Amino acid sequence: MRIDSEVIVVGAGLVGAACAARLALEGREVLLLDMQAPGLGASFGNAGHVATEQLIPLANPRVIRDSWRYLLAADSPLVLRMAYLLPILPWLARFVLAARPGALARGVAALMALQRTSSDDLRELLQACDLAPLLSLDGYLRVWESDAGARAARRQAAEVAAHGIRSEPMPAQAIHAEAPALSADVSGGLCFPDTGHVSDPHAVCTGLVAALQRQAGRVQRARVLELYQEGRGPVRLTQAHGPALHARQVLVCAGAWSRPLARSLGYRVPLDTERGYHITVPWPGAGEPGAGAIAMRRPIASTERSVIMTPMSVGLRMTGTVEFGGMHLPPDPRRYALLRRQMQALVPGLHTGAASTWMGFRPSLPDHLPVMGAAPRHRGVFFAFGHQHLGLTLSGVTARIMGALMQERASGVDLSAYRIDRF
Ligand SMILES: Cc1cc2nc3c(=O)[nH]c(=O)nc-3n(C[C@H](O)[C@H](O)[C@H](O)COP(=O)(O)OP(=O)(O)OC[C@H]3O[C@@H](n4cnc5c(N)ncnc54)[C@H](O)[C@@H]3O)c2cc1C
Repeated sequence: MRIDSEVIVVGAGLVGAACAARLALEGREVLLLDMQAPGLGASFGNAGHVATEQLIPLANPRVIRDSWRYLLAADSPLVLRMAYLLPILPWLARFVLAARPGALARGVAALMALQRTSSDDLRELLQACDLAPLLSLDGYLRVWESDAGARAARRQAAEVAAHGIRSEPMPAQAIHAEAPALSADVSGGLCFPDTGHVSDPHAVCTGLVAALQRQAGRVQRARVLELYQEGRGPVRLTQAHGPALHARQVLVCAGAWSRPLARSLGYRVPLDTERGYHITVPWPGAGEPGAGAIAMRRPIASTERSVIMTPMSVGLRMTGTVEFGGMHLPPDPRRYALLRRQMQALVPGLHTGAASTWMGFRPSLPDHLPVMGAAPRHRGVFFAFGHQHLGLTLSGVTARIMGALMQERASGVDLSAYRIDRF
């Protein structure tokens, strides 16, 4: 049987591109497949926040307590599309189970095991791929506009401080000196100095793909339909158009689309999507009204509004919203309108008329841990998907772990918490 490549990676989002680049840098022959151009999935429009402070899985008692209130509010950051109520119910039931104290403690430990090196791994990978200028590791600000917001932000910071995450108080004056365009209602905040951001996640993704190609790796447009393995032989991938492809090792990194691929080998996994939205306001040109005034050097998150704004090369981006609506319902225009209102409230006078809009599919398991590891019943098949709100942040550590695993080296991380058959 003809082997098309030693390794085939399915999915050229941040996770797949990082893994493919890493494997190629380590001398492996790699073919990266995607049904569309690289980086157009969830990785295209994320907030670009290297969120190393996020250690508490979203499946936690506070979110569950608040979510009933959120789900019914029109301007809520968390919404459930009624047309998707029935399909998401089993996922939500597992989400509630994952928030029980024992499960949550295991979830925190499992996220910590990845976050411990996530920033270093991302920095090293981007350096090795000549992409270091896209990454800034100089923190982000979490601000508030009310006493209740201050209490909530401090409580959340205290939760992660117990696990070693540093934050520093930022008085209002210092915040406004750093970001003069910010609303006068912002009355204080915290700086998380060990976090960072990228100037354009799509550029990171395409840059990783370019680095793969410089190492003689190949990229091909292909929609993979199924994986199949005869005995312990090579893995066969059937594609929508064109002949089947064969590889000795296959790594599935198809983000929110990974479920049918895992299923084709007999692995059932409760992967769903938490849809998220962004608007990106292009920077005003020199001489235009507002030019220079909205300068911002690092991300700013609003506690009360559950949004984050990131200064990017393409403009000022605001992201927010968790929407349960599956993969097929169209975007809800009210979500964009909400983001516009939030942006105008936080940066008064900013014109959002020219903003571009986007919705993407966060790949999420109910316990908010990724699937990472070798397929239990198939030799040469590996999975790395389900990175939920943290796919950029965890792309470097995922690539390092998968690189080690696929070359039978120790990764230094106990992978049992991320097994595909843990549910
Ligand atoms: C609004 C929003 C804000 C976010 N902010 C942040 C943030 O600040 N920091 C952070 O760390 N994370 C953030 N995230 C999460 C992050 O974007 C995702 O976790 C990450 O992009 C997932 O990457 P991925 O490579 O797994 O998936 P994707 O980027 O979705 O890539 C999967 C790829 O697989 C391809 N594919 C799918 N099926 C097939 C198939 N059958 N055959 C071939 N190709 C296939 C798709 O075309 C796609 O290119 C955010 C997400 C959203 C939506």
